[in-house]
Amino acid sequence: SGRVELDDREVADLAAHLQGELVRPGDPAYEQARRVWNGSINRLPGLIARCASRDDVIAAVRFARRNNVLVAVRGGGHSFPGHSVCDDGLVIDLSLMNGIRVDPEARTARVQAGALLGDLDRATQEHGLAVPSGIVTHTGVAGLTLGGGLGWLMRKFGLAIDQLLAVDLVTADGGLVRASDTENPELFWGVRGGGGNFGIVTEFEFRLNPVGPIVMAGPVFWSGADSAKVLRFYREWIAEAPDELMTMVVHRRAADVPYIPAELRGKPVVAVVSCYAGAVDDGERVLRPLKEFGSPVLDLCRPKPFLEHQSMFDASYPSGWWYYMKACDVAKLTDEVIDITVENATAITSPLTAFPIWQGGGAMARVAEDDTAFHGRAAGHTFNINAATENADGFERERDWVRSFWSDLAPFHTSVYVNFLMDEGEERVRQAYGEAKYARLRALKRAWDPDNFFRLNQNVAPSPV
Ligand code: FAD
Repeated sequence: SGRVELDDREVADLAAHLQGELVRPGDPAYEQARRVWNGSINRLPGLIARCASRDDVIAAVRFARRNNVLVAVRGGGHSFPGHSVCDDGLVIDLSLMNGIRVDPEARTARVQAGALLGDLDRATQEHGLAVPSGIVTHTGVAGLTLGGGLGWLMRKFGLAIDQLLAVDLVTADGGLVRASDTENPELFWGVRGGGGNFGIVTEFEFRLNPVGPIVMAGPVFWSGADSAKVLRFYREWIAEAPDELMTMVVHRRAADVPYIPAELRGKPVVAVVSCYAGAVDDGERVLRPLKEFGSPVLDLCRPKPFLEHQSMFDASYPSGWWYYMKACDVAKLTDEVIDITVENATAITSPLTAFPIWQGGGAMARVAEDDTAFHGRAAGHTFNINAATENADGFERERDWVRSFWSDLAPFHTSVYVNFLMDEGEERVRQAYGEAKYARLRALKRAWDPDNFFRLNQNVAPSPV
């Protein structure tokens, strides 16, 4: 526990030094500021430093060091296991630091660490450019990028980290460093997948690529009863997919959202959701066989603004619901994997539960496995077995469903994406990086954070001296 008796004078001194604000239990802003995306996480930090600048972050780190206070670092607050909030300690909250500067000529963007994906998309799409990021716009750029960053553009432009040029980072002793291919290259290797283990990133610099503004994208739905047929067709169809095409398969009971007709809501469905990051005509041609397969019950795949597509899942994963998740990668959608998927999809009870199966391959798979700390570039598909309930009611049943589905797939597990882990222990973090990278990360951790000051994360313990 991070429980400490905070020295009043020290706290007052920190409050006086912050350009942002220091929120304490009892303050009007406290309840809101301590909440994270996953409603099943309910922690009571002793202090929340809402930083407005790099100097604020440095002041907060130095305060925590001096007073031996446990620190949680918060970007977008979307960590599934709630690593961005702690009991008793200090939350270093970056959400006020959400500025973005786009240089359309140089095709780069400087992004402060509190920015959300939607902020980044809007700022870059204004120039017809984009960073490959994630599929829900209220997710934080920081946590997503530091773990790798899977999304609609990854088969075309790689992961978020594959377009990352540099970071500014506040170290465990309150110093400031820059990491890139030429400055602190080993640290730059580690932050591209190694999460928040090495310091607090205050700013990211990304390379930008042209995307849209109109793309051929969206879901095609079939009845859940057709799931096996759809998955078998899908497996063949994507075998020859160009890099421009990224897809995922979602099983769920049709959501209660405006774009789903009332008569379909609540019914089991399977959807193939696509995004074609290229010319709309080409996208129409590539997607035709999918649209013509079997008897879709709803087809929302059409030319639309990339920005609109990016936000399509926002309402399906709102803040405050209770979420539980387990993930794994598999090499192929074999007949057995398909059978397990269909059987478990049929057993979904919560109307809020939706689990995506991500397509791998393309540009992200062509980056060499050792170029970055991210592990699992060869993954064929990523199962993100995600369950949700509105509150505690029925949560345990959904959690059991997730665990048993995941266990059914165990014979086929290959890698696992670090950002799709809950609190699953050291062994799983090791699996997420693989033995060789885990050892390399531990050595890097010893160099930059030998006391494990940054430990509320998928933790890499410093290697022994
Ligand atoms: P936070 O909870 O703020 O932080 C997550 C972790 O990163 C914590 O350990 C935190 O301490 C650390 N951290 C945060 N900011 C910093 C910083 N500036 N410096 C150092 N460490 C920091 N992942 C994908 O790859 N693709 C997706 O499409 C995708 N979709 C998602 C959709 C939803 C609804 C959710 C909840 C998650 C999704 N994820 C996705 C997973 C996501 O990448 C992780 O949950 C990620 O950690 C969220 O980042 P955050 O900044 O919002 O979270």
